[in-house]
Amino acid sequence: MAPIIVIDPGHGGYDPGARGYGLTEKDIVLEVALQTERILQAYAVTVELTRRDDTYVVIPARTARANQMSADLFVSIHVNAGGGTGFESFVYSTAPAKTVELQRQIHGDLARFYARYGFRDRGRKTANFAVLRQTVMSAILVENLFIDHPVDNARLKHPVFRSAIAQILANSLVKAMQLKLKNQVWAPEWEIERLRLAKLVVCLHHPGDTLLWGQYATVLNRVRERSDSGTVWDPEREIGLLVEDRLLASARQPAQVVPWGEFATVLNRLRQRSVEKPGWDPRAEVELLIRDGLLVSVREPGALVNWGEFATVLNRYLYN
Ligand SMILES: [Zn+2]
Repeated sequence: MAPIIVIDPGHGGYDPGARGYGLTEKDIVLEVALQTERILQAYAVTVELTRRDDTYVVIPARTARANQMSADLFVSIHVNAGGGTGFESFVYSTAPAKTVELQRQIHGDLARFYARYGFRDRGRKTANFAVLRQTVMSAILVENLFIDHPVDNARLKHPVFRSAIAQILANSLVKAMQLKLKNQVWAPEWEIERLRLAKLVVCLHHPGDTLLWGQYATVLNRVRERSDSGTVWDPEREIGLLVEDRLLASARQPAQVVPWGEFATVLNRLRQRSVEKPGWDPRAEVELLIRDGLLVSVREPGALVNWGEFATVLNRYLYN
């Protein structure tokens, strides 16, 4: 039997939760919950949400549903408020070791993600919250930054950042609950779809399509929040930004294909990883991707990168 995960977006309806600088907790947590569910659809897992729209569901109904389903895990998603900053998570005060271990894993993944943006880890905590107390399965409540802190709030305003929270949470659940992909070991279409869900890719791409420099530059610039393509896409400008920021030595034509050696070099510079050798060694750049677990098998530096491979490598870098 596939595991059952109940995701609980806090608040809803007449209960807005916390508010600050034009953001409302109930909206953010619903968006993150729906996206997490969407990402988990590729896996053998039953995901249930305690609410799917802007309505208030009383706490006993949320927990009773999870108990009736004999869920394996209950994840309550919230955004904090009250004058702090950073990320924290909660389990019930007398949670068993298994739950504490799940908290350690899920908290660790989210805290590492938030740390990349300079947010502080407020720690793994316990509390006597109703959602944690009334659920019979392992239950964890995550408080994703402070809506009333200007720095936290500015991050939460970014749709790409909110999507990244869902991606990180989904990946963390995959690892913590040992979820398996439904059909294949590797699903390149799904990797591309994840980039689309993360709002890093707009158009449809097929896994076998060769990656072009204009496309590669645009996605990388979105990742580093540097893209300035507004309504009109300007791939030359996107490539120019990579050159300007010294991720790429010289300009390329937008329709030029991307070989593995160059692909790896640019990505390694973005990751601030470098080959410890003088001069440019494209083979070593590809090997560095393998060493860091982003790529499974060797590619010739001159071989062309396709979209399925690109999406897979990027997702591993961003969300694992
Ligand atoms: Zn809340």
